[in-house]
Amino acid sequence: MTAPRALVAGNWKMNGLKQAVYEITRLNELINVNGATCDVLICPPFTLIGHLNSLSAPNVAIGAQDCHMNMSGAHTGDISAEMLNELGCGYIIVGHSERRADHGESSETVNAKAVAAQNVGATAIICVGETIEQREAGEALDVVTTQLKASIPDSATTDNTIIAYEPVWAIGTGKVPTAADVAEVHLAVRNQLLDRFGAGGDAINILYGGSVKGSNAAELMSVANVNGALVGGASLKADDFFDIIAAFGHIG
Ligand code: PEP
Repeated sequence: MTAPRALVAGNWKMNGLKQAVYEITRLNELINVNGATCDVLICPPFTLIGHLNSLSAPNVAIGAQDCHMNMSGAHTGDISAEMLNELGCGYIIVGHSERRADHGESSETVNAKAVAAQNVGATAIICVGETIEQREAGEALDVVTTQLKASIPDSATTDNTIIAYEPVWAIGTGKVPTAADVAEVHLAVRNQLLDRFGAGGDAINILYGGSVKGSNAAELMSVANVNGALVGGASLKADDFFDIIAAFGHIG
């Protein structure tokens, strides 16, 4: 089975006002001029999705950071996958550690959100990762594989699912696991995907996330079973983000 192209995805979190349009047009232009060997995605706050999707920036897909598990109903303040689909979102992040921590989302909830995303034809980017306490206790592999098992729906395919391994302690801290540690977790994720989905599991992209920047991207992205990156802080400025995208040009 052929794997999809690698993906470099930006998660803007709760950052970005209308002037952020500049970053998307700049990113589009950088890719036009220099090329990119991976797909490129930005997930802005909900408020910007429609606006950014109406720009003429074909090199940059626009996705969402979350969705509700239901398509409509009495859920004040929530946004459904169907609404995101109407705005042209082809990707929806689910289970980011900040949502698991801030909103108490369980892996079962994440699983239901992934199904909702898939049901509207979007690709669910399912996030998993251990805390520093869990890593120091030697539980990282156990935690990640347990989260993964419960968070991935049976409906997962190469086209509708991407996994993002994001150690919680590496997010926004400037700390990055060693290449050996990343390789160990990504291999465990790959093995679980193969066990569960057969050959199809070999072609599901597995992203690494946690303090990725231009200076460490080439090393992280060259680790076996790393098929791209999920990037927070360094995705806010087009030039910084493009340095990560360009790192793919130096691989293989
Ligand atoms: C993230 O929030 O998904 C993330 C990886 O953030 P950062 O790149 O800032 O560590």
